[in-house]
Amino acid sequence: MEPNRELERDYAIIGSGITGMSVAKSLLERHPSATITIFEARTLCSGATGRNGGQMAANVGEEYAHLADAHGPEMAGKIVSFTFHNLQKMQELIKEYDAEELSEMQRLKKLRAFLTEDSFEGFQKSIARLESDHPSWKGLYTILDKETLIKVGELMFGRYVVKLTDVRNMASTEQQGEPCFLQEPCGPIDSSRRSSPTSSRSPNRLTIETHTPVESVQNDSSFITPTTSVFPYTIQTPRGPSRVANVVYCTNGYSGHLIPELRGHIHPFKGTMTVQDPGNSVPNQGQHLSWGFHYPPTYDPTTKESGYGLYYLGQSAKTGYFYFGGENTRIEDAVSADDSFVGSNSVLHLQSVLPKFFGQRPGSQWKLVSSWSGIMGFSADGLPLIGRLSSSLTGRNGKGEWIAAAFNGYGMANCLMCGDALVSMILGEGSNEWLPGAYELSESRLQNTLATSESISALTPKL
Ligand SMILES: Cc1cc2nc3c(=O)[nH]c(=O)nc-3n(C[C@H](O)[C@H](O)[C@H](O)COP(=O)(O)OP(=O)(O)OC[C@H]3O[C@@H](n4cnc5c(N)ncnc54)[C@H](O)[C@@H]3O)c2cc1C
Repeated sequence: MEPNRELERDYAIIGSGITGMSVAKSLLERHPSATITIFEARTLCSGATGRNGGQMAANVGEEYAHLADAHGPEMAGKIVSFTFHNLQKMQELIKEYDAEELSEMQRLKKLRAFLTEDSFEGFQKSIARLESDHPSWKGLYTILDKETLIKVGELMFGRYVVKLTDVRNMASTEQQGEPCFLQEPCGPIDSSRRSSPTSSRSPNRLTIETHTPVESVQNDSSFITPTTSVFPYTIQTPRGPSRVANVVYCTNGYSGHLIPELRGHIHPFKGTMTVQDPGNSVPNQGQHLSWGFHYPPTYDPTTKESGYGLYYLGQSAKTGYFYFGGENTRIEDAVSADDSFVGSNSVLHLQSVLPKFFGQRPGSQWKLVSSWSGIMGFSADGLPLIGRLSSSLTGRNGKGEWIAAAFNGYGMANCLMCGDALVSMILGEGSNEWLPGAYELSESRLQNTLATSESISALTPKL
């Protein structure tokens, strides 16, 4: 690989996932002259963004009661508005870039089914509280009882009703259509420099360096020269150094690598997806429905495997294949930043579970079309971290290091607007009006709700 010329850029963005792309897009659109380089360790979107389950959905309904307890109803309502507004913006962006067909975006209802009475009751209470605190959200969710579910099921599946022996309780549909964005994980993208529609609108201001892992970041402002006073940070990569004025970490589950002080506050979490072909055994509902199956977290002391409480699936409207994910794995396999292999137990588990939900006899397996794993970023309080990194976190002087990370498996509902909100902070415009204050990175959050002990407790299997 040829050494890179020494670049001088206003902004280095580390990570080319949806968050890095959002930050780049906002900077290009809102700053008249900013020069930007995106550094990506592998290929474009090779992190969680290119490996996810494709559900453009929010989890704020089931989380509302918890959010209101932790942050008060006003902030909880702001989080609900933020996530649904973000989903709306995602759709607009896909339309703006004429990518509806390419992305296979569909407007769907999401059918959430609850496998125990308790989890269903908890969900109902959460929705009731959301509607009472914020009447404008009434009608977002429709609660179905078992009988209606059967009718809806019969209507939607013919004889292929979601099995009520498995779905012991009821389900709710989210009234507002939730689009589903189906995709295969990114294949390798060869070129190490690429342009994008955004960059062609702003020629010469954006470069994207793929296959270029950032190995370290230094601040050289103690040696005052004309260069270090404007570009105090050195980004070290195998292709050579670059000097930049600001560093923006969009590294999500990998953030602890370059910022060790964040380890424990944010942790990686490995997720696995399968694509399964049901053949002719169920009709294709890919244009109408996606599904979530909720159950209380489980722990099996014999296998040491934990079930994390959710299976999610969508169906390709084109092929009828199911895109099915959900974790049931050992904690040491889940808390991992290594997506170079797919956990075979995870795949076997997903293959054994899915056909049962659609009424197939136990032991049935559908053809595995594809499977992959990806790394998410999780935080103990379940909320993203957006803001300026302090010197105590970076170990460096300077005020030019920023982060947007920890989307807790719900990037589609958060990343786009979090990237834009971070740009408001970077440009000195203060907090974006949409951004919930609870997402902002603060010392007190790090010491309290994001303390390592809280992360351990959140990960500890509850029996
Ligand atoms: C299996 C799975 C299923 C999911 N399903 C859904 C879903 O259905 N709906 C939903 O909303 N969300 C889902 N998610 C989560 C969603 O994909 C993420 O929240 C979102 O993609 C995060 O985007 P990001 O840009 O912040 O991070 P990423 O896409 O992970 O991007 C970070 C990038 O940083 C790069 N990087 C890291 N360190 C360095 C370095 N030192 N130098 C250079 N580059 C570096 C990485 O290579 C990576 O490309 C899923 C995730 C997984 C793994």
